[in-house]
Amino acid sequence: MWLGRAVGKIKTDLTFDLEQTVTCFCSRKARRKEREGAENTTSGDSKLYLEAPVLERKLLSELDMRMLVDLPAGLDYNEWLASHTMALFDHVNLVYGTVSEFCTTTGCPDMTGPSQRTYLWFDEKGKKTRVAAPQYIDYVMTFIQKTISDENIFPTKYANEFPSSFESIVRKIIRLLFHVVAHLYAAHFKEVVLLGLHSHLNLTFAHLTALHHRFSLIEPKETEVLRDLEVALRLTEDSSQESTSNLGEQQTDTTIDNTDSDSKNQVEESAGKLHI
Ligand SMILES: [Zn+2]
Repeated sequence: MWLGRAVGKIKTDLTFDLEQTVTCFCSRKARRKEREGAENTTSGDSKLYLEAPVLERKLLSELDMRMLVDLPAGLDYNEWLASHTMALFDHVNLVYGTVSEFCTTTGCPDMTGPSQRTYLWFDEKGKKTRVAAPQYIDYVMTFIQKTISDENIFPTKYANEFPSSFESIVRKIIRLLFHVVAHLYAAHFKEVVLLGLHSHLNLTFAHLTALHHRFSLIEPKETEVLRDLEVALRLTEDSSQESTSNLGEQQTDTTIDNTDSDSKNQVEESAGKLHI
């Protein structure tokens, strides 16, 4: 309830540009739907998050972002990864928490990302299952909270050491957080803008991307769904042309994949096991 009131209040405080962007975007999308037929149009095709007025992020340059994640001399690599992982978890949790009221099993029956990407979850028996987005994200957040609170994995006490599998565990956490961010952009960006949190989400995405670029933490096949946003936010250095042309190919592949009943573009996740 509080969020509905908050949205109402914040909406009145929105700058004219932003409000107009959301309004124009929605009516344009509605007109396109009428023209093409609702069944042929999905929310993944229209990307409000690529519209110029919402591309702002906190005033950090590309150099600042690189410095933010660069390992300082003398600091332990695992300690560094741990601190960034926990910070990203907090930020993603915070942004998702503010719009979670809008992420329901009926509104989001699948865990989707942009370009019709669907994320599947492995159940406890190792069987991949299609779960609603709020359920998937609940699994993700519960798993991460439990993992970062485990003294055997994220040690805080003196003399306790990181396990040899630590980096792999971090990779998995970062990948899962990326899925949540992808869902926020694909399904809830309008609410994020109305709450005035788009620059925070963009900054969180920029932080995650900078960390991933610096330490190669996520597979390119995972991050390709938001490559266009990387380019728009100028997070991908000196390769925007290449990224843009790659994106075109990837979107074509995705379209082909979607005609396949096996949906090759679906990405699977395991709830019970850590893929090392
Ligand atoms: Zn949702």
